[in-house]
Amino acid sequence: MEYEFSTKCLYGDKKGYNFEGTGAISFPIYQTATYAHPGVGVSTGFDYSRLQNPTRQQVEQVVAALEGGVDALAFSSGMAAIAALMELFQPGDHLITDTDLYGGSIRLFRNVSEKNGITFSRIDCSADDVENYITENTKAVFIETPTNPMMNVIDIRRISETAKKYGLLFIVDNTFMSPYFQRPFELGADVIVHSGTKFLGGHNDTLAGFLVTNREDISERLRFLIKTVGSGLSPFDSWLILRGIKTLPLRMEKAQENAKAIVDFLLREPRVKKVYYPGIPGSRGYEICKSQASGFGSMLTFEVESRELAHHILKSTKLIPFAESLGGTETLLTYPATQTHADVPEDVRIENGITDKILRLSVGIEDKGDLIDDLRQAMESFQS
Ligand SMILES: *Cc1c(COP(=O)(O)O)cnc(C)c1O
Repeated sequence: MEYEFSTKCLYGDKKGYNFEGTGAISFPIYQTATYAHPGVGVSTGFDYSRLQNPTRQQVEQVVAALEGGVDALAFSSGMAAIAALMELFQPGDHLITDTDLYGGSIRLFRNVSEKNGITFSRIDCSADDVENYITENTKAVFIETPTNPMMNVIDIRRISETAKKYGLLFIVDNTFMSPYFQRPFELGADVIVHSGTKFLGGHNDTLAGFLVTNREDISERLRFLIKTVGSGLSPFDSWLILRGIKTLPLRMEKAQENAKAIVDFLLREPRVKKVYYPGIPGSRGYEICKSQASGFGSMLTFEVESRELAHHILKSTKLIPFAESLGGTETLLTYPATQTHADVPEDVRIENGITDKILRLSVGIEDKGDLIDDLRQAMESFQS
């Protein structure tokens, strides 16, 4: 019998805890670096914690179940996961990525992957046709949807058709939606990336990253890489992510409800010029988002009338911290131009619409009236 999603958030696919006879409900933290062998050539299945650790294995089992993958690997951060993933490629390989990506991914590709001989075409996957950029060296397509921070929606099914036709690995960073709202394997992805720091952990207190795959061959290669590069998630942090995931459905629902209320408020504010949220009916991306996800999430971006107003809001909110990151219980206000996307070349940043009037909100689970009051007072106290 297969469990439903919210049950899987507690147990994964199977309720197979190693209780060691204690009856403990919370999965134990196996704070050990190494394991005793019963005899020569005999292993308990655990040899050394860089390779395997029961707590990490449990969080990997849960994340694999949530995405519907055959395997998930837990890394010390989202970037550690993406850096390990890039080791699948060789000098001369070519990848197609979206222009609007998490700033850290852009930095990794530009400064590390390119140095290692991998080349990239950066295109707007929500508008351009991926097929036009494929060369004989193209090995993969890497996207996020909705994109960070401009909330462009990319048609996962359409890209997967092209990727299948040309034998490309199709990688989707699913951090913004989490598997609660969007499950890219059902739409044709081969590898799913998560910054577990965000919605999966969900409490703004732990860094983590995941690579999930539905292909045995990829799983084998990634298992070799995690033990070789050594960036696996620690036992304690694995436990914190396990605990965070237990409430994923509740947090996602509440945060989305709050985000929708804030979008309604922002749309009526005269000093707000544009709101980017895929759940606005009639907006670009609304129909595609509806067809491939069961919700619109709790990330939103908005443009205010001036740079001065943007700066004023950032220093005037009293409840909402001005901080990077997203997907946690606390609502956070981010300034992509100087924070998440500071390392992106200015021309690229502006071309992607990330101007100095753009603010990003990761909506949390506070009372929605308190959040709206805070944004209102920050805007109304501005003297232009
Ligand atoms: C935060 C983030 C990452 C990087 O994850 P870390 O855990 O911060 O290393 C990658 N992709 C997206 C979409 C993110 O939001």
